Amino acid sequence: MKHNSIIDSVLKELNLSDTHSPGDGAWRAFLNLLKEDEAKLLIKNQELQLLNELGFNEVQKVWELIQEREVLIKTILGSSQDIILTLNNEARIIEFNHVAESTFGITKKEVSGLPIFSVITKGSLKYDLENYFLKKTEGSDAFFGKVYEGTISNANEEEIPVSIYINKINIEKMPVYPLYIRDLTLQKASEKTIEESRAKLILASKMSSLGEMAGGIAHEINTPLSTIQMKAELLLERLSEGGGNEKVINDSLNSIIITVKKIAKIIRGLRSFSRDGTKDPMSVCAVSQIVNDTFDLCRQKFFDHDVDLKFNFNEDLNILCRPGEISQVLLNLIQNAFDAVENLDQKWIRVDLLEDKKSVLIKVIDSGSGIVKDVQDKLMQPFFTTKAIGKGTGLGLSISRGLIMAHGGTIELETDAVNTTFCLKLPKIKTL
Ligand code: ADP
Repeated sequence: MKHNSIIDSVLKELNLSDTHSPGDGAWRAFLNLLKEDEAKLLIKNQELQLLNELGFNEVQKVWELIQEREVLIKTILGSSQDIILTLNNEARIIEFNHVAESTFGITKKEVSGLPIFSVITKGSLKYDLENYFLKKTEGSDAFFGKVYEGTISNANEEEIPVSIYINKINIEKMPVYPLYIRDLTLQKASEKTIEESRAKLILASKMSSLGEMAGGIAHEINTPLSTIQMKAELLLERLSEGGGNEKVINDSLNSIIITVKKIAKIIRGLRSFSRDGTKDPMSVCAVSQIVNDTFDLCRQKFFDHDVDLKFNFNEDLNILCRPGEISQVLLNLIQNAFDAVENLDQKWIRVDLLEDKKSVLIKVIDSGSGIVKDVQDKLMQPFFTTKAIGKGTGLGLSISRGLIMAHGGTIELETDAVNTTFCLKLPKIKTL
């Protein structure tokens, strides 16, 4: 291809030539430069034309793909039930889906380009984003790539619980931050309702156990009350007779004090048993103390029915627990054992305290000879009972299991034991 034709024709027009120049070598050099530039221009032009012809379809395809992707992204953003938004490097809003619009009460159009802090004005996420984008605090990038719970403010400036996932991606070497935020208000509310119902059920079951023991407990208090009455009457008698022997008076008064303390202890036990302890902190307690406090609530009833009740241990052990809850579980197991042995010839219930490498084991064993397979399979199901209407609720074991699981332990029927044995396994306290 001739690429110097324009220069040649101009020279011809002007009656000049590059060989017969009016001047010196400078003219020739100038002409050469002109010709080089023109040649370069021509080549560029040809390349452009070629690219245009060859590349059009490809460009078209890429463009269509981009449009499809955009529709897809818009559909995903639009159908999401979560807030999805993206931020640029300066925490300014780029994307803002419809859930974000309704949560924050502002449209994408109004909010585009504004800092995220103009919509999230309160809550833990604001604090996290400020630390990362504005204060650039060390370690403030710890939230990337993991789901965590926090709070944001909504359109009414209320703080609402949310789960958050923040990512960081690079688009054309510029960081972009997608944020996925899920409103947990409803979930938290239903969790609270479930928790409240659970606490109510636990209390109801506790009260039902107490109800079963009520007769015995009344007896337990009545006996020492009679003792007090007797001693007090005796003292009055002695005084009316003109005073008595000082030792006798002393002994009677001491006996009254001891008996009052005994009653006070039973009432304390009753109080602590019947109160709602589901939110109590865990504390280190001696198992013997819990077992004895529980026995105090039922000893009399067992005595009245000739049921032998024993606590068997070599060495006392400590557990980390909510003692009221462990006591509730024990009372339920002991009450079940009582129901099982009440009509047997041999009536005994034994609580054994043992340990293995990792756990403290509290076994409630009764003189029954195990539980039939059919019942075994349903024992822990809520509302399963083989007892007469009004006697059993069928909640004891399922609630007990929940309480023991919350302590990191298990409750199981030992199916290979000769006598009916329920075993509570609780984690040993870790020593440093
Ligand atoms: P409830 O005592 O109100 O029936 P539980 O959940 O405490 O509810 O017990 C469920 C069932 O498990 C009882 O009805 C009974 O059939 C069976 N059970 C529990 N403990 C024993 C036991 N020691 N011996 C025999 N059966 C038992």
